Amino acid sequence: MATAASHWSSLAVCGNKPAFSEPLHVGRPNLPDKQAILERIAGALDRHWLTNGGPLIAEFERRIAAEVGVKHCIAVANGTIALELAVRGLGLSGEVIVPAFTFIASAHALAWQHVAPVFCDVDRTTHTIDAKQAEELITPRTTGILGVHLWGRACDVESLADLAARKQLALFFDAAHAFGCTHRGRSIGQFGSCEVFSFHATKFVHCGEGGAITTNDDVLAERLRLLRNFGFVGYDCVTAIGTNGKMSELAAAVGLTSLDNMATIVAANRANYDCYRRMLADIAGIKLVPFDAREVSNFQYVVLEVDDRVAGLSRDELAAALVAENVLARRYFFPGCHRMDAYRASAKCPAPPLPITELLSERVLALPTGLQVDQASILRIAGIVRTAIENAPAVKSRLSQRRAA
Ligand SMILES: *Cc1c(COP(=O)(O)O)cnc(C)c1O
Repeated sequence: MATAASHWSSLAVCGNKPAFSEPLHVGRPNLPDKQAILERIAGALDRHWLTNGGPLIAEFERRIAAEVGVKHCIAVANGTIALELAVRGLGLSGEVIVPAFTFIASAHALAWQHVAPVFCDVDRTTHTIDAKQAEELITPRTTGILGVHLWGRACDVESLADLAARKQLALFFDAAHAFGCTHRGRSIGQFGSCEVFSFHATKFVHCGEGGAITTNDDVLAERLRLLRNFGFVGYDCVTAIGTNGKMSELAAAVGLTSLDNMATIVAANRANYDCYRRMLADIAGIKLVPFDAREVSNFQYVVLEVDDRVAGLSRDELAAALVAENVLARRYFFPGCHRMDAYRASAKCPAPPLPITELLSERVLALPTGLQVDQASILRIAGIVRTAIENAPAVKSRLSQRRAA
Protein backbone atom coordinates (compact mmCIF):
# COMPACT_ATOMS: atom_id res chain seq x y z
CA MET A 1 0.00 0.00 0.00
CA ALA A 2 1.18 3.49 -0.73
CA THR A 3 -0.08 6.99 -0.36
CA ALA A 4 -1.29 8.78 -3.45
CA ALA A 5 0.26 12.07 -4.46
CA SER A 6 -2.07 15.04 -4.43
CA HIS A 7 -1.88 17.92 -6.85
CA TRP A 8 1.11 20.03 -5.90
CA SER A 9 -1.00 23.17 -5.66
CA SER A 10 -2.59 21.65 -2.52
CA LEU A 11 0.68 22.02 -0.61
CA ALA A 12 1.15 24.68 2.07
CA VAL A 13 4.21 26.02 0.22
CA CYS A 14 1.67 27.11 -2.42
CA GLY A 15 -0.18 29.20 0.13
CA ASN A 16 -2.66 26.58 1.37
CA LYS A 17 -3.50 25.85 4.98
CA PRO A 18 -0.93 23.58 6.64
CA ALA A 19 -1.88 19.89 6.75
CA PHE A 20 -1.60 19.96 10.55
CA SER A 21 -3.14 22.71 12.66
CA GLU A 22 -0.74 21.98 15.56
CA PRO A 23 3.00 21.55 15.01
CA LEU A 24 4.36 18.00 15.10
CA HIS A 25 7.76 18.02 16.79
CA VAL A 26 10.72 15.70 16.53
CA GLY A 27 11.44 14.52 20.07
CA ARG A 28 8.23 15.69 21.73
CA PRO A 29 8.37 14.20 25.23
CA ASN A 30 6.38 11.00 25.70
CA LEU A 31 4.33 11.38 28.89
CA PRO A 32 1.79 8.59 28.92
CA ASP A 33 1.08 8.56 32.66
CA LYS A 34 0.86 11.97 34.27
CA GLN A 35 -0.94 10.62 37.36
CA ALA A 36 1.89 8.21 38.23
CA ILE A 37 4.45 11.02 37.93
CA LEU A 38 2.41 13.26 40.22
CA GLU A 39 2.03 10.47 42.81
CA ARG A 40 5.77 9.86 42.89
CA ILE A 41 6.47 13.58 43.20
CA ALA A 42 3.91 13.84 46.02
CA GLY A 43 5.79 11.07 47.84
CA ALA A 44 9.06 12.98 47.53
CA LEU A 45 7.42 16.16 48.81
CA ASP A 46 5.90 14.27 51.75
CA ARG A 47 9.32 12.87 52.63
CA HIS A 48 10.93 16.32 52.34
CA TRP A 49 13.66 14.50 50.43
CA LEU A 50 14.24 16.10 47.05
CA THR A 51 17.76 15.04 46.04
CA ASN A 52 21.03 13.65 47.54
CA GLY A 53 20.60 9.90 47.24
CA GLY A 54 16.85 9.80 47.87
CA PRO A 55 14.83 6.61 47.42
CA LEU A 56 13.56 7.47 43.92
CA ILE A 57 17.10 8.06 42.63
CA ALA A 58 18.22 4.79 44.22
CA GLU A 59 15.32 2.93 42.62
CA PHE A 60 16.00 4.57 39.25
CA GLU A 61 19.67 3.49 39.41
CA ARG A 62 18.72 -0.09 40.34
CA ARG A 63 16.23 -0.35 37.52
CA ILE A 64 18.57 1.12 34.89
CA ALA A 65 21.38 -1.22 36.00
CA ALA A 66 19.01 -4.21 35.83
CA GLU A 67 17.63 -3.20 32.42
CA VAL A 68 21.14 -2.78 30.99
CA GLY A 69 22.61 -5.77 32.83
CA VAL A 70 25.50 -3.99 34.57
CA LYS A 71 26.72 -3.79 38.16
CA HIS A 72 26.61 -0.01 38.47
CA CYS A 73 24.43 2.85 37.33
CA ILE A 74 25.36 6.38 38.40
CA ALA A 75 22.40 8.68 37.75
CA VAL A 76 23.25 12.32 37.05
CA ALA A 77 21.69 15.64 36.08
CA ASN A 78 22.02 15.23 32.30
CA GLY A 79 23.85 13.32 29.59
CA THR A 80 26.45 16.02 29.01
CA ILE A 81 27.60 16.05 32.61
CA ALA A 82 27.59 12.24 32.50
CA LEU A 83 30.06 12.44 29.59
CA GLU A 84 32.19 15.02 31.44
CA LEU A 85 32.24 12.85 34.57
CA ALA A 86 33.25 9.87 32.44
CA VAL A 87 36.12 11.90 30.93
CA ARG A 88 37.27 12.88 34.44
CA GLY A 89 36.67 9.46 35.93
CA LEU A 90 38.72 7.78 33.20
CA GLY A 91 41.49 10.35 33.70
CA LEU A 92 41.57 11.40 30.03
CA SER A 93 43.78 14.20 28.74
CA GLY A 94 45.37 15.34 25.46
CA GLU A 95 43.19 14.10 22.59
CA VAL A 96 40.17 11.83 22.33
CA ILE A 97 38.82 10.55 19.00
CA VAL A 98 35.11 11.16 18.49
CA PRO A 99 32.86 11.03 15.40
CA ALA A 100 32.02 14.41 13.82
CA PHE A 101 28.53 13.20 12.93
CA THR A 102 26.88 13.39 16.36
CA PHE A 103 25.11 15.82 18.66
CA ILE A 104 27.51 18.58 19.66
CA ALA A 105 27.52 17.53 23.35
CA SER A 106 29.73 14.52 22.51
CA ALA A 107 32.48 16.97 21.49
CA HIS A 108 31.71 19.66 24.07
CA ALA A 109 32.02 17.25 26.98
CA LEU A 110 35.62 16.59 25.92
CA ALA A 111 36.54 20.22 25.17
CA TRP A 112 34.94 21.43 28.44
CA GLN A 113 37.34 19.07 30.26
CA HIS A 114 40.29 20.48 28.25
CA VAL A 115 40.55 17.36 26.14
CA ALA A 116 40.80 18.07 22.39
CA PRO A 117 38.15 16.27 20.35
CA VAL A 118 39.73 14.76 17.23
CA PHE A 119 36.96 14.38 14.66
CA CYS A 120 36.64 11.07 12.86
CA ASP A 121 34.40 10.13 9.94
CA VAL A 122 31.54 7.63 10.18
CA ASP A 123 30.49 4.47 8.41
CA ARG A 124 28.23 5.01 5.39
CA THR A 125 25.69 2.38 6.50
CA THR A 126 25.56 2.57 10.28
CA HIS A 127 26.41 6.28 10.70
CA THR A 128 28.75 5.33 13.57
CA ILE A 129 32.48 5.97 14.01
CA ASP A 130 34.77 4.54 11.33
CA ALA A 131 37.11 2.29 13.34
CA LYS A 132 39.71 2.14 10.54
CA GLN A 133 40.03 5.89 10.32
CA ALA A 134 40.06 6.15 14.13
CA GLU A 135 43.27 4.12 14.09
CA GLU A 136 44.87 6.54 11.60
CA LEU A 137 44.02 9.48 13.86
CA ILE A 138 45.90 8.15 16.88
CA THR A 139 48.84 10.36 17.94
CA PRO A 140 51.13 10.26 20.98
CA ARG A 141 48.63 12.61 22.67
CA THR A 142 45.62 10.31 22.19
CA THR A 143 44.22 8.88 25.43
CA GLY A 144 40.85 7.53 24.41
CA ILE A 145 38.06 6.86 21.91
CA LEU A 146 34.47 7.96 22.38
CA GLY A 147 32.08 6.02 20.13
CA VAL A 148 28.48 7.17 19.63
CA HIS A 149 25.69 4.62 19.07
CA LEU A 150 23.82 6.93 16.72
CA TRP A 151 20.06 6.38 16.28
CA GLY A 152 20.42 3.47 18.73
CA ARG A 153 22.57 1.48 16.29
CA ALA A 154 25.69 0.12 17.95
CA CYS A 155 29.18 1.16 16.88
CA ASP A 156 31.57 -1.50 15.61
CA VAL A 157 32.26 -2.34 19.25
CA GLU A 158 34.58 -5.30 18.53
CA SER A 159 36.94 -3.41 16.20
CA LEU A 160 37.06 -0.45 18.58
CA ALA A 161 37.73 -2.68 21.60
CA ASP A 162 40.52 -4.41 19.69
CA LEU A 163 42.03 -1.07 18.66
CA ALA A 164 41.78 0.37 22.19
CA ALA A 165 43.43 -2.73 23.66
CA ARG A 166 46.27 -2.71 21.10
CA LYS A 167 46.97 1.00 21.61
CA GLN A 168 46.22 1.07 25.35
CA LEU A 169 43.50 3.66 25.00
CA ALA A 170 40.35 4.12 27.05
CA LEU A 171 37.17 3.24 25.19
CA PHE A 172 33.78 4.58 26.23
CA PHE A 173 30.47 5.24 24.51
CA ASP A 174 27.90 7.96 24.16
CA ALA A 175 24.76 5.83 24.29
CA ALA A 176 22.39 8.83 24.53
CA HIS A 177 20.24 7.38 21.71
CA ALA A 178 20.55 3.76 22.64
CA PHE A 179 18.74 3.00 25.87
CA GLY A 180 16.81 -0.25 25.36
CA CYS A 181 18.90 -1.28 22.32
CA THR A 182 21.18 -4.28 21.86
CA HIS A 183 24.41 -5.14 20.09
CA ARG A 184 24.86 -8.82 19.19
CA GLY A 185 22.08 -9.57 21.63
CA ARG A 186 23.73 -7.80 24.56
CA SER A 187 22.32 -4.56 25.96
CA ILE A 188 24.06 -1.36 25.01
CA GLY A 189 25.40 0.07 28.27
CA GLN A 190 27.66 -2.94 28.91
CA PHE A 191 30.47 -2.04 26.51
CA GLY A 192 33.79 -0.25 26.90
CA SER A 193 34.95 1.08 30.29
CA CYS A 194 31.60 2.80 30.70
CA GLU A 195 28.66 4.04 28.67
CA VAL A 196 26.67 7.23 28.99
CA PHE A 197 22.91 7.64 28.61
CA SER A 198 20.89 10.81 28.28
CA PHE A 199 17.41 10.97 29.78
CA HIS A 200 16.63 14.36 28.27
CA ALA A 201 12.96 15.02 27.47
CA THR A 202 13.52 14.23 23.78
CA LYS A 203 15.01 10.81 24.47
CA PHE A 204 13.28 7.43 24.49
CA VAL A 205 13.20 7.07 28.30
CA HIS A 206 13.46 10.45 29.99
CA CYS A 207 13.51 12.42 33.24
CA GLY A 208 12.89 15.87 31.71
CA GLU A 209 16.60 16.40 32.27
CA GLY A 210 18.72 13.44 33.30
CA GLY A 211 21.56 11.13 32.45
CA ALA A 212 23.47 8.12 33.72
CA ILE A 213 26.74 6.28 33.45
CA THR A 214 26.72 2.49 33.46
CA THR A 215 29.76 0.31 34.14
CA ASN A 216 30.91 -3.01 35.54
CA ASP A 217 34.08 -1.41 36.94
CA ASP A 218 33.78 -1.09 40.75
CA VAL A 219 36.65 1.37 41.11
CA LEU A 220 35.43 3.64 38.31
CA ALA A 221 31.88 3.57 39.72
CA GLU A 222 33.12 4.62 43.14
CA ARG A 223 35.12 7.46 41.63
CA LEU A 224 32.18 8.67 39.54
CA ARG A 225 29.92 8.73 42.62
CA LEU A 226 32.52 10.78 44.44
CA LEU A 227 32.97 13.28 41.57
CA ARG A 228 29.20 13.60 41.10
CA ASN A 229 28.81 14.91 44.66
CA PHE A 230 31.61 17.53 45.06
CA GLY A 231 34.09 14.83 46.09
CA PHE A 232 32.45 14.39 49.49
CA VAL A 233 33.16 11.15 51.36
CA GLY A 234 31.49 12.17 54.61
CA TYR A 235 29.78 15.26 55.98
CA ASP A 236 33.00 17.29 56.19
CA CYS A 237 35.57 15.38 54.18
CA VAL A 238 36.33 16.20 50.55
CA THR A 239 38.92 14.01 48.85
CA ALA A 240 38.59 15.04 45.20
CA ILE A 241 37.72 18.08 43.11
CA GLY A 242 34.22 17.12 42.17
CA THR A 243 31.21 18.86 40.74
CA ASN A 244 27.48 18.83 41.30
CA GLY A 245 26.16 16.28 38.84
CA LYS A 246 23.38 14.88 40.97
CA MET A 247 19.97 13.88 39.66
CA SER A 248 17.03 15.15 41.71
CA GLU A 249 14.16 13.08 43.15
CA LEU A 250 11.76 15.01 40.92
CA ALA A 251 13.67 13.99 37.80
CA ALA A 252 13.84 10.38 39.07
CA ALA A 253 10.03 10.44 39.55
CA VAL A 254 9.62 11.26 35.84
CA GLY A 255 12.32 8.72 34.89
CA LEU A 256 10.77 5.83 36.87
CA THR A 257 7.39 6.50 35.30
CA SER A 258 9.01 6.66 31.88
CA LEU A 259 10.64 3.26 32.57
CA ASP A 260 7.21 1.86 33.54
CA ASN A 261 5.97 2.96 30.11
CA MET A 262 8.87 1.71 28.00
CA ALA A 263 6.91 -1.08 26.33
CA THR A 264 4.11 1.29 25.28
CA ILE A 265 6.57 3.79 23.82
CA VAL A 266 8.59 1.19 21.90
CA ALA A 267 5.41 -0.32 20.50
CA ALA A 268 4.26 3.09 19.25
CA ASN A 269 7.70 3.95 17.85
CA ARG A 270 7.94 0.61 16.10
CA ALA A 271 4.48 0.84 14.57
CA ASN A 272 5.29 4.39 13.41
CA TYR A 273 8.60 3.30 11.91
CA ASP A 274 6.98 0.37 10.05
CA CYS A 275 4.25 2.65 8.76
CA TYR A 276 6.74 5.28 7.54
CA ARG A 277 8.76 2.54 5.88
CA ARG A 278 5.78 1.17 3.97
CA MET A 279 4.50 4.59 2.98
CA LEU A 280 7.86 5.99 1.85
CA ALA A 281 9.25 2.80 0.28
CA ASP A 282 8.87 3.62 -3.41
CA ILE A 283 9.56 7.36 -3.43
CA ALA A 284 12.58 8.22 -5.59
CA GLY A 285 15.60 9.62 -3.75
CA ILE A 286 14.28 8.90 -0.25
CA LYS A 287 15.73 6.22 1.99
CA LEU A 288 14.71 5.49 5.55
CA VAL A 289 17.74 4.68 7.71
CA PRO A 290 17.18 1.01 8.64
CA PHE A 291 17.40 -0.66 12.02
CA ASP A 292 19.30 -3.93 12.25
CA ALA A 293 16.50 -6.52 12.34
CA ARG A 294 18.67 -8.91 14.39
CA GLU A 295 18.84 -6.44 17.29
CA VAL A 296 16.39 -5.02 19.80
CA SER A 297 15.79 -1.33 19.18
CA ASN A 298 13.85 1.54 20.71
CA PHE A 299 12.91 2.90 17.23
CA GLN A 300 13.16 6.41 18.68
CA TYR A 301 14.59 8.02 15.54
CA VAL A 302 12.93 7.97 12.15
CA VAL A 303 15.64 9.32 9.88
CA LEU A 304 15.49 9.87 6.13
CA GLU A 305 18.36 10.26 3.73
CA VAL A 306 17.39 12.55 0.85
CA ASP A 307 19.46 12.21 -2.31
CA ASP A 308 18.72 15.47 -4.14
CA ARG A 309 20.04 14.24 -7.50
CA VAL A 310 17.35 11.56 -7.56
CA ALA A 311 14.61 13.24 -5.54
CA GLY A 312 14.91 16.54 -7.43
CA LEU A 313 14.63 18.35 -4.09
CA SER A 314 17.39 18.89 -1.58
CA ARG A 315 16.99 17.80 2.02
CA ASP A 316 16.56 21.47 2.98
CA GLU A 317 13.86 21.99 0.36
CA LEU A 318 11.96 18.91 1.50
CA ALA A 319 12.33 20.08 5.12
CA ALA A 320 10.94 23.51 4.17
CA ALA A 321 7.94 21.90 2.46
CA LEU A 322 7.27 19.80 5.58
CA VAL A 323 7.73 22.71 8.01
CA ALA A 324 5.18 24.72 5.98
CA GLU A 325 2.72 21.89 6.77
CA ASN A 326 3.56 22.11 10.51
CA VAL A 327 5.66 18.94 10.32
CA LEU A 328 8.77 20.23 12.08
CA ALA A 329 11.30 17.80 10.59
CA ARG A 330 14.85 18.38 11.88
CA ARG A 331 18.30 18.28 10.29
CA TYR A 332 19.93 15.83 12.73
CA PHE A 333 22.90 16.54 12.60
CA PHE A 334 23.78 19.59 10.59
CA PRO A 335 26.51 20.59 10.10
CA GLY A 336 29.09 18.07 11.37
CA CYS A 337 30.64 19.08 14.73
CA HIS A 338 33.87 20.00 12.91
CA ARG A 339 31.95 22.69 10.99
CA MET A 340 30.27 24.29 13.99
CA ASP A 341 31.57 27.80 14.70
CA ALA A 342 32.94 26.69 18.07
CA TYR A 343 35.27 24.18 16.38
CA ARG A 344 35.66 25.22 12.76
CA ALA A 345 38.82 27.27 13.12
CA SER A 346 40.65 24.82 15.34
CA ALA A 347 39.03 21.48 14.57
CA LYS A 348 41.42 18.57 14.51
CA CYS A 349 40.32 16.30 11.70
CA PRO A 350 41.80 14.55 8.69
CA ALA A 351 42.14 16.12 5.25
CA PRO A 352 40.17 15.91 3.05
CA PRO A 353 37.79 16.27 5.90
CA LEU A 354 35.25 13.61 6.60
CA PRO A 355 33.42 12.89 3.31
CA ILE A 356 30.71 10.65 4.83
CA THR A 357 29.95 13.16 7.58
CA GLU A 358 29.71 15.90 4.93
CA LEU A 359 27.38 13.78 2.80
CA LEU A 360 25.12 12.71 5.66
CA SER A 361 24.86 16.16 7.18
CA GLU A 362 23.52 17.37 3.80
CA ARG A 363 21.07 14.47 3.48
CA VAL A 364 19.58 13.43 6.82
CA LEU A 365 16.19 14.52 8.04
CA ALA A 366 14.51 13.32 11.24
CA LEU A 367 10.72 12.94 11.20
CA PRO A 368 8.25 13.19 14.10
CA THR A 369 7.41 9.94 15.90
CA GLY A 370 6.44 8.77 19.40
CA LEU A 371 3.03 8.87 21.04
CA GLN A 372 2.01 12.16 19.37
CA VAL A 373 1.98 10.51 15.93
CA ASP A 374 -0.54 7.97 14.68
CA GLN A 375 -0.86 6.08 11.40
CA ALA A 376 -3.28 8.64 9.98
CA SER A 377 -0.76 11.46 10.52
CA ILE A 378 2.02 9.33 9.01
CA LEU A 379 -0.15 8.76 5.92
CA ARG A 380 -0.52 12.52 5.58
CA ILE A 381 3.18 13.19 6.14
CA ALA A 382 4.15 10.54 3.57
CA GLY A 383 1.58 12.03 1.19
CA ILE A 384 3.25 15.43 1.52
CA VAL A 385 6.70 13.91 0.87
CA ARG A 386 5.38 12.08 -2.20
CA THR A 387 3.55 15.10 -3.58
CA ALA A 388 6.57 17.35 -3.06
CA ILE A 389 9.02 14.96 -4.72
CA GLU A 390 6.77 13.96 -7.62
CA ASN A 391 6.37 17.68 -8.35
CA ALA A 392 9.91 18.68 -7.47
CA PRO A 393 10.40 21.41 -10.15
CA ALA A 394 7.16 23.18 -9.20
CA VAL A 395 7.90 22.92 -5.46
CA LYS A 396 11.45 24.13 -5.99
CA SER A 397 10.31 27.23 -7.84
CA ARG A 398 7.62 27.92 -5.21
CA LEU A 399 10.23 27.73 -2.47
CA SER A 400 12.60 30.10 -4.26
CA GLN A 401 9.73 32.58 -4.81
CA ARG A 402 8.96 32.38 -1.09
CA ARG A 403 12.60 32.97 -0.21
CA ALA A 404 12.73 35.98 -2.54
CA ALA A 405 9.52 37.46 -1.11
C1 LIG B 1 21.08 14.20 23.86
C2 LIG B 1 22.47 13.83 23.55
C3 LIG B 1 23.53 14.15 24.41
C4 LIG B 1 23.40 15.08 25.57
O1 LIG B 1 22.51 14.69 26.55
P1 LIG B 1 21.83 15.79 27.48
O2 LIG B 1 21.09 14.94 28.48
O3 LIG B 1 20.92 16.60 26.63
O4 LIG B 1 22.90 16.60 28.11
C5 LIG B 1 24.79 13.68 24.10
N1 LIG B 1 25.01 12.95 22.99
C6 LIG B 1 24.03 12.65 22.12
C7 LIG B 1 24.36 11.82 20.92
C8 LIG B 1 22.73 13.10 22.36
O5 LIG B 1 21.77 12.85 21.46
